[in-house]
Amino acid sequence: MQKKIVDLRSDTVTKPSPAMWNALKNLDNTALGDDVMQEDPTVSELEKKAAQLVGMEAALFVTSGTQGNLISILANTTPGEQILVEEHTHIFNYEVGGAARIGGLTVRPFSSDHGQFDPKDLKRLISDHSDVHEARTTLLCLENTHNSHGGTILPPSLFQASRVFADEHNLKIHLDGARIFNAAVRLGIPVTEFTQYADSVQFCLSKGLACPIGSIIAGTREFIEKALKFRKLLGGGWRQAGILASMGLVALESPWIDRLAEDHALAKLLWNELNSLELPIKVLEPETNMLMLELLPEIPCEMSDFIQKLNSVGILAFVDRNRVRFVTHFGLTEDDMHYSAQQIGDVIRSVLR
Ligand SMILES: *Cc1c(COP(=O)(O)O)cnc(C)c1O
Repeated sequence: MQKKIVDLRSDTVTKPSPAMWNALKNLDNTALGDDVMQEDPTVSELEKKAAQLVGMEAALFVTSGTQGNLISILANTTPGEQILVEEHTHIFNYEVGGAARIGGLTVRPFSSDHGQFDPKDLKRLISDHSDVHEARTTLLCLENTHNSHGGTILPPSLFQASRVFADEHNLKIHLDGARIFNAAVRLGIPVTEFTQYADSVQFCLSKGLACPIGSIIAGTREFIEKALKFRKLLGGGWRQAGILASMGLVALESPWIDRLAEDHALAKLLWNELNSLELPIKVLEPETNMLMLELLPEIPCEMSDFIQKLNSVGILAFVDRNRVRFVTHFGLTEDDMHYSAQQIGDVIRSVLR
């Protein structure tokens, strides 16, 4: 028998749902067209639905979250300006420095308390160009849920305060909402409780929403017009992308979005089980679908060795800032959580000996 594998590396490993496969199979040529010429009706339908959902004028279907963030940053700024990002954000650490390299921007990181901060404290980072030395600050990027802080939620109040601050200083706000629906579902509020405070938003279809490929960016019509050009520049002008958009349409239906609560429940289950092991580990209580596990000094094991040992018993995970990150997602079951907790416990006991 093949060894059981539980893949907790990311929610990007998800495969399409049966309803997505059905939507794909039910397509015919009339549902497809050349999207560079904006002639793919399925893509247009997805963009319309996505814009409505996040309460923006218009939306654009793009290849990935990284591309969506970069396009949004480019469309919101002019080379030579400065943008503000929290120091552990995806934009700052995991997007190949695109904002600096391609956008010609100074990317200024600021620290936070596990992702939470008071926008007023950013005042010292704002420069308005009146000083000959300074690059003008024009954009604040927010990430929600915050990946590297463990899928934590920035509350609507932080967004509201950011908006007030941004208006005072003439900044735009871009929301990297790769997992914004996880935040909305967890708080039981519409996603517009966050997006109403942003000028642009990016969210991923290819993570917890389980589509194979794609992200959405949304904002004003003017923003999307600029974004279209930047998408083309970055090689993201695609043709009969309705093939992918058909699955995106399924993903944006409310029962499917609400399904994210199941991922959150699985993360909570795994957290409970790991805590009951009574081992020298610290596991942060998950707010959404991510779990961060820290090995306490009593455990004499390098993080890379630990991950390898987990892999060898079929538990797949990534390291993030010296913690093991487990991500729950579509396709996993409660049994997978029981099994994982047991295997993780066995690995820890084996290195303690
Ligand atoms: C995954 C992720 C992205 C990038 O998405 P890709 O589709 O992998 O390029 C951006 N921001 C956050 C917070 C993410 O977790």
